[in-house]
Amino acid sequence: MQRRATCEQARIAFPDVTYGFYETMAKSFGIDYAKLPLRADFTVDVKGYVETDRHIVLANPNAPTGYVLPVSEIERIVAANPQRLVVIDEAYVDYGNESCVPLIHKYDNLIVVQTMSKSRNLAGAHIGYCFASAALIQDLEGLKAAFNPFNLSDVSMAIGTAAIEDEAYLQHCVQATITAREYTKAELRKLDFYVMDSHTNFVFVTHPWLTAAGE
Ligand SMILES: *Cc1c(COP(=O)(O)O)cnc(C)c1O
Repeated sequence: MQRRATCEQARIAFPDVTYGFYETMAKSFGIDYAKLPLRADFTVDVKGYVETDRHIVLANPNAPTGYVLPVSEIERIVAANPQRLVVIDEAYVDYGNESCVPLIHKYDNLIVVQTMSKSRNLAGAHIGYCFASAALIQDLEGLKAAFNPFNLSDVSMAIGTAAIEDEAYLQHCVQATITAREYTKAELRKLDFYVMDSHTNFVFVTHPWLTAAGE
């Protein structure tokens, strides 16, 4: 387990359509990464993640598709190979999705990351956090001390603490987003858009007359 979180000589895998920062960060840190293809219907093919020997980064729900893997499938990936790390990015978990945080008590190769930028409406404070086994957290603390111990300002920490205590505000933000999302989905469907079932704060659409490929 020692120093596993540091991605020393890391080889990682993530979907070929996902949050763009994974590729940007992998490139800037010189990490060997592989992009595993989504299925034609934009769903995540779990088999590839069960079989790879690479560390894994998965947004669940995925971005920008909004596709959600059930926690049982995440567990299958985590359990398949205890020698690699699995990072599950739950940026959109609060929009009615099940979290895989409870799995950290069972598996010490799982890191679950969340952010206050979406459901808590606090993108400007830029607060992210993670859940993992005590050993992995210790490893991450060591990494943070060596890399950038001052990554959160006092102001952001005060805002973040207040946000955690204000459950009503979280519920208000989530409900407002879901209301706007459902309205948007219904209106787009009236215009013949195909709208993927969204479990997030965005919708992923295609239209039979239009292609995103350009001319
Ligand atoms: C927004 C987002 C993040 C992190 O956002 P920060 O503002 O940097 O906290 C991470 N992953 C996904 C999939 C996101 O959409």
